[in-house]
Amino acid sequence: MNSFDIVIIGGGIAGASLAWRLAQEPGKRSIVLLEAEDHPGHHATGRSAAFFSESYGNEAIRTLTIASRDFFYSPPETFSETPLLEPCGALFIAREDQLVALEEHYQSTRALAPNIEKQTRAFALSRVPVLNPDAVAACVFEPDSQAINVHELLQGYLRGARRGGVEVWPRHKVTALENRDGHWRLTAGGETIEAGLVVNAAGAWAGQIGTLAGALDIGLEPLRRSVCVIDPAKADGIEGDISGWPLVLDVDEAFYFKPSGGMIWLSPADEDPSPPCDAAPDELILAQAVDRLERATSIRVRRFEHKWAGLRSFVADRMPVVGFDPLQEGFFWLAGQGGYGIQTSPAVSEVAAELIRGCGLPPACAKTGVTLEALDPRRLQVI
Ligand SMILES: Cc1cc2nc3c(=O)[nH]c(=O)nc-3n(C[C@H](O)[C@H](O)[C@H](O)COP(=O)(O)OP(=O)(O)OC[C@H]3O[C@@H](n4cnc5c(N)ncnc54)[C@H](O)[C@@H]3O)c2cc1C
Repeated sequence: MNSFDIVIIGGGIAGASLAWRLAQEPGKRSIVLLEAEDHPGHHATGRSAAFFSESYGNEAIRTLTIASRDFFYSPPETFSETPLLEPCGALFIAREDQLVALEEHYQSTRALAPNIEKQTRAFALSRVPVLNPDAVAACVFEPDSQAINVHELLQGYLRGARRGGVEVWPRHKVTALENRDGHWRLTAGGETIEAGLVVNAAGAWAGQIGTLAGALDIGLEPLRRSVCVIDPAKADGIEGDISGWPLVLDVDEAFYFKPSGGMIWLSPADEDPSPPCDAAPDELILAQAVDRLERATSIRVRRFEHKWAGLRSFVADRMPVVGFDPLQEGFFWLAGQGGYGIQTSPAVSEVAAELIRGCGLPPACAKTGVTLEALDPRRLQVI
């Protein structure tokens, strides 16, 4: 029988970041991180578009992103030898008929991200010369947006967790969970594990794990998002170096594209409901992405180099679910990170670790306006 103080289910960014946080604690508790796949990060975490934008997501998400900023800019000395961020900037573009939405985006963002700028069509074209002048009436530029090195971030969390004594067990899919008088017994990878606290960080599968545990139904919905990769050398209508382009987002999020490693990553920003699974992109959805790109730019796509899809999981208010379950003692939720789980992982994991330690909201999070009520699973309880 394996016995631990804490079992974390899920080796994506959520589970790994919490494992790292808890491993920093003096007089640490024994912790195991269980991952169903061969490697942590196989699902949503390994498939993200990897950007950090302080104006992305709803207002409450932005408070979590901003509370994560200091970690990304100056991580602890031993965390990583490679910078976690690479500056790129983000350009939110609008056609004539989207100018109201652009103004709303600007007004709702500028209090939290004061460096964002209202800019002209000429500015947009100077930054991204392939943009079609008829498709861009104006733009908002976020100079501080960054590309995140997600691989390094995940590995940094896992390295630090292991150094702090956390055991990481891949190929251990949790298939049964039982609460015996406040003590948990799990079955995973053919083994039985006992623990005082179970953390549910199972991404798109978190709803299923909640059901296995007899916990609250939080109404988690996995939504598929697809990405395709275009080689500029094999597309028409692109001249010159693309490496200095910012991330370009349609202000209504009908599509976005960004340069990455000499290629262009393009997404139709799709949100199609899906059961938890190893998600794959739909050809029709990618054709829509190409159509939107070709309307907005001079780029003509001939083929994709690569394509993938992943599941972004949301509850009704599109905020993460972080806190103890109201029905099952010793069951903790760390789910519903939606499309922001990478960029918010420093703040979300800090809140989770503090709650598990029996403390309150970390001061750095309180300062940016994060509240525990906005994250608490009890807000989703139908009475
Ligand atoms: C195309 C795309 C673009 C995105 N772009 C961005 C972006 O630019 N910025 C950003 O911040 N976020 C982005 N996201 C969102 C981000 O990727 C997610 O919010 C984040 O990765 C969620 O992390 P997670 O650990 O909760 O889930 P996951 O990474 O899916 O991890 C959950 C893990 O749990 C494991 N698991 C499931 N069931 C079990 C079980 N029974 N037993 C053991 N293990 C189990 C799974 O195998 C998986 O590894 C994007 C997502 C997608 C798909």
